[in-house]
Amino acid sequence: MAARVVDWAEQERRLSEHVSVLVGDANGGYPSGNSVLVRGAGEAVIIDPSVTVVAKGGAPVRVDAMITSHGHEDHLPGTGLFTEARVHVHEADRFVHEEPSHMVAAYHLVGDAREEFRQSILTEFNFAARPDAEGFHDGHVWSLGGVEVEAVHLPGHTAGHSGFRISEGVFFLSDIDLTGFGPYYGDTWSSLDDFENSLIKVRDEEADYYVTFHQKGVIEGRERFLEMVDAYHAVIHRRHTNMLEFLSEPRTIAEMVAHRFVYRPHVEMSFCDSIEGRTAELHVARMLERGEAVEVEPGRYRAA
Ligand SMILES: [Zn+2]
Repeated sequence: MAARVVDWAEQERRLSEHVSVLVGDANGGYPSGNSVLVRGAGEAVIIDPSVTVVAKGGAPVRVDAMITSHGHEDHLPGTGLFTEARVHVHEADRFVHEEPSHMVAAYHLVGDAREEFRQSILTEFNFAARPDAEGFHDGHVWSLGGVEVEAVHLPGHTAGHSGFRISEGVFFLSDIDLTGFGPYYGDTWSSLDDFENSLIKVRDEEADYYVTFHQKGVIEGRERFLEMVDAYHAVIHRRHTNMLEFLSEPRTIAEMVAHRFVYRPHVEMSFCDSIEGRTAELHVARMLERGEAVEVEPGRYRAA
């Protein structure tokens, strides 16, 4: 599919001379998201082209490259649209671009959910493999002519998850999305420790606008940003405390999954259990390491 040049009208929000946000449907709620367009004098790049960009058939200008913040389906629909543009992704997430099954494996889905998800990546999310995707590392700079984009590695959500420091006072946070749901670290390649370190690191970013991929969209001003990061970070501590309380009696990971600490009990989606399980495992590992809990018999844990 070749991308057209499309007028985005009121769904394009200009933040500065060269930078604008292409607001996704439903304010960037999943499955969509908020993409960032950077128009340099030399090149134009689009960061995380969403399903809304695909539905519209293109960006407001011709793009030379797409930069992806990490290898999740909702950030990659542009792969099937901007087929003539270069693709850049952090080296640690590059394998996702090789073929659709690699992303499925990272979510460790089981049974029917696996094939269903593989199909939805290709249809709903318009994913096209790009084995030629170029890997970048922390600190990589794209000089586009009068404006620059710098990669800031913020792992945890995925191993290669990255934010982007854009000149003109814009910082793209991607899936450090500052929602009430809290941080997501439920994949096989997620890390709780890395996510927390990334939250501490990103707190130092000085910008006028902080852009998240999902519902919170554009956050104006550093003060508001700091409040939101701290509230978001507190969700990790709340989950940890709730789990420790639950372990006042010996429990297994399966019992923790059934109790639900991430999703509310009434949410029924095929992937909830695997995400609850992965999240519980990470918190229990942290408890054991800190001496907050002990393994009373194989696979059963109790608060110390
Ligand atoms: Zn993600």
